[in-house]
Amino acid sequence: MPYPYLLYVTPAGEIREDPRLQALAFGDHLLTMDDLIPLPNGVTLSMMPDRLAVGRKRNGEQQVLPQSRGWAVAALLPIGYTRTWLPAYEKVPDTEPLPFFGYSAVAGLNGRMYVAALKTDDPRKWHPRAFNRPKLERLVSEKQAAYPQNRIITQHAHCALDYSCPTASNLFFERWEMAIAVSPGCNARCIGCISKQEEEDLISPQDRLTFIPSVDEIVEVALPHLESAEDAIVSFGQGCEGEPLLQWHRIAGAIKAIRARTDKGIININTNASNPRWLQKLYDAGLDTIRVSTISGHPETYTAYYRPLGYTFDDVKESLKRARDAGLYSSINLLSFPGMIDREREVEALLTFIQETGLRLIQLRNLNIDPEVFLPRMPDPDSMGKALGMRAMIEIIKREAPDVEIGNFTRPVKRTFNGVPG
Ligand code: SF4
Repeated sequence: MPYPYLLYVTPAGEIREDPRLQALAFGDHLLTMDDLIPLPNGVTLSMMPDRLAVGRKRNGEQQVLPQSRGWAVAALLPIGYTRTWLPAYEKVPDTEPLPFFGYSAVAGLNGRMYVAALKTDDPRKWHPRAFNRPKLERLVSEKQAAYPQNRIITQHAHCALDYSCPTASNLFFERWEMAIAVSPGCNARCIGCISKQEEEDLISPQDRLTFIPSVDEIVEVALPHLESAEDAIVSFGQGCEGEPLLQWHRIAGAIKAIRARTDKGIININTNASNPRWLQKLYDAGLDTIRVSTISGHPETYTAYYRPLGYTFDDVKESLKRARDAGLYSSINLLSFPGMIDREREVEALLTFIQETGLRLIQLRNLNIDPEVFLPRMPDPDSMGKALGMRAMIEIIKREAPDVEIGNFTRPVKRTFNGVPG
């Protein structure tokens, strides 16, 4: 049976294949066609700077391609796809950490390119082709002219045009899930934070928000969206900010002001769920859905990654239990790092976490980080039992928690009033 073979990128930036070498994934896993899907539309192929390409010869020996041949190559997946294996490579000593991207293993066969991934949601609303650039630029300048004083619009114009952020762009396209960033501060210190990094040589890909919007600014952008947008969701808690819960008072005030004027659309919060009492205020004010960020159902793994300030994993669980009891639709944003979250201990802990909290949806999120930044700061994966593989992990969750949906995005669910569908 033909084996998928190694792909690499030349110094000139061309993707090349080496059919003499079988393709490998991180952790010395030999890729087979069972691991791979054809490259999906919207994928980006990325050179891995200062990472040499590694393959396996037919005699089982590993071979590292010399620098003169080029570098390892990875796929950066479009939203809607979940990575199942990271790329294999050999790091050139004393070189910079990789930028914060979700590197996925690739391979070639019969002249075609493949990636180690699974399609886990409908990418239609998140695909780059849904965000026509010239139209976005026109809509941004029109909205900014209409609301020159609203700082949220200025912030998300920056995110839409400079980071191609889909939820920021939807503010201007006036449809689907729209971003509202509210918090410059955070009470966690995530290893992979994309808006703030503490260590000298780690560069966060986004600038952190620098202001706290007023209730009026929030209502001014949220109300028209909820009233008229298709599948309208307004979401507090974005990549360009810290933890929205630190501004619970303003969010609660905004929710009350909004719900006094419309019962349309969904008000959602993406949060680290660090404070169940503050969240209870938002539940009581009329919040509809909550998405809690986590990397694990196990306190040791959670604490190692989030490095929480003044809260514990028990607070996170308590927040979700209260959401269930208040009738909210709750989901988790499960940061996905193959080789860790699919370990026996992690899968078991996740199933217990699902049972205890009554969450309804798991949103798988490829963790954007250099493996050699992430792994040394986490507990040893080998202490977590065998790696079952991402596909097997997803199958186990489907079997053991059949009422829990697995996807990648927040749903425009039907609003409930005290737990009763509206
Ligand atoms: S909770 Fe969010 S903002 Fe805070 S450190 Fe983690 S990723 Fe960054």
